[in-house]
Amino acid sequence: MSNPSLLILPGDGIGPEVMAEVRRVIDWFAGNRAMAFDVSEDLVGGAAYDAHGTPLHDDTMARAQEVDAVLLGAVGGPQYDDLDFSVKPERGLLRLRKEMDLFSNLRPAQCFDALADFSSLKREVVAGLDIMIVRELTSGVYFGEPRGIFKEGNERVGINTQRYTESEIARVARSAFELARKRSNMVCSMEKANVMESGILWRDVVTEIHDAEYGDVELSHMYADAGAMQLCRNPKQFDVIVTDNLFGDILSDAAAMLTGSLGMLPSASLGSPMENGRPKALYEPVHGSAPDITGQGKANPIACILSFAMALRYSFDAGNDASRLEAAVNDVLADGLRTADLLGEDGVDPVSTTEMADAILAKLDANLG
Ligand code: NAD
Repeated sequence: MSNPSLLILPGDGIGPEVMAEVRRVIDWFAGNRAMAFDVSEDLVGGAAYDAHGTPLHDDTMARAQEVDAVLLGAVGGPQYDDLDFSVKPERGLLRLRKEMDLFSNLRPAQCFDALADFSSLKREVVAGLDIMIVRELTSGVYFGEPRGIFKEGNERVGINTQRYTESEIARVARSAFELARKRSNMVCSMEKANVMESGILWRDVVTEIHDAEYGDVELSHMYADAGAMQLCRNPKQFDVIVTDNLFGDILSDAAAMLTGSLGMLPSASLGSPMENGRPKALYEPVHGSAPDITGQGKANPIACILSFAMALRYSFDAGNDASRLEAAVNDVLADGLRTADLLGEDGVDPVSTTEMADAILAKLDANLG
């Protein structure tokens, strides 16, 4: 059997810096865990624009459709701010998400014990937190028609349409239930069924899919506004939260900030299963290209490294190896190592991007024996 394939798109700014460290982690798994990948690398964002005049070349798009998973760094930078909208770096990322039909966006909110004091919430509320927000990514009010700004009498009216089909709800619900089975087997679905018809349909369809196919998973429902309050009051009551595009956008940002720095946050966007049973998949850190620290060795590589851990778990059925990598990150943080973005007021000297990855690799080695 051939190795699973990975397409790496480092992108712009700190993207190539953090991705260089991820490649060392990938090599470690090949060398020590017999997990070899066929890795190819290509351009996206501003780097692709500089080389080809487009933020995503057609050949790169075609390659992304063929591989088992795509790992992306970050795109964008001030030098591209004046480009036409159609060729801005972000268009490359949007094209990948759209053409791969990545309808399920996974944003974990995981709080490593050593960083619990970074949260704006009390340590006991967030320490040990490990929840996953599944956001529907390709439909809902950001895409529904009609949309626009129209003239009505002598004033303007802005219109967006919240629209979900049963099949759109069903597929993201399945994605959440499948995930829950790999975690603590609990899903909370959030909508506004009290005031929105699309919310009533959402609740109906999630319940139908649950009863027919996922009776072993514990399902609860919550109005999204109540969910926002509960996320701040007692986030550890949740495991997987599934919600629509708009509520997911807001709830996942709020949940992410429970855990501290942008440099720590991975994400995954999944689509339908391919012929080999693996979902179409794009893994990327939540952060952008951080032009303010590019080229200074200050970038925290952990978000990108944890994105690879997500790939191990959700594309390659290697949950144990994902946990191994997450444990190495946890151990390094517990030892007090910090990149500059994680510095509190305790007078610790920051380590560089490469030193942080060195330490994670050393922990992987140490934990092997
Ligand atoms: P950003 O995420 O790049 O940076 C925000 C702040 O967080 C900066 O101070 C930065 O130094 C810091 N930061 C981010 N990642 C870090 C890391 N790994 N380690 C240490 N510090 C880190 O957001 P921004 O400044 O608003 O945007 C910069 C560029 O990135 C823009 O061109 C924007 O469009 C683009 N962007 C891209 C993506 C993406 O590729 N998915 C996401 C967001 C922003």
